[in-house]
Amino acid sequence: MENVDFLSVESYLDIYDQNGVLLKIRNEEVASTLEYSSLTTFEGEKKLKLHYEKERDASFMRKCKEQYTKKDPLLACEACGFSFQKVYGDIGKNFIEGHHTKPIGELTVETEINDEDIKMVCSNCHSMIHSRYPCFTIEEIKELINITEIST
Ligand SMILES: [Zn+2]
Ligand SMILES: [Zn+2]
Repeated sequence: MENVDFLSVESYLDIYDQNGVLLKIRNEEVASTLEYSSLTTFEGEKKLKLHYEKERDASFMRKCKEQYTKKDPLLACEACGFSFQKVYGDIGKNFIEGHHTKPIGELTVETEINDEDIKMVCSNCHSMIHSRYPCFTIEEIKELINITEIST
């Protein structure tokens, strides 16, 4: 963790939910965010961190997940179809990650986000989506999976 620059992310630590309630971000969570995003180095790194922090809007994500559970109780990844519950059983139940599809530049405090803007993806696809800035779209990831499956 020596390379972590806490100053550069300090301004992202106060996260508010839809109702203006401050969601406290624990140190371990901040640390894991930094570790995660430090896997890639590029110009938009700061924006990427902000994107992840916005995805940590726990109450909204919880509601989106609830919505998605009604559509698909197994919570299959919208890109690759992976279901944590199917593969890992009980410990994988209710596990899925939410990804904001709106470009980060549009994500100001005033921007209305609805559940259509959030895609439910497995951790692998989520990482692949964020392996480039701007992010890959779900459709692009789907296409990449298809191409790779055909050629291997
Ligand atoms: Zn996936
Ligand atoms: Zn994301």
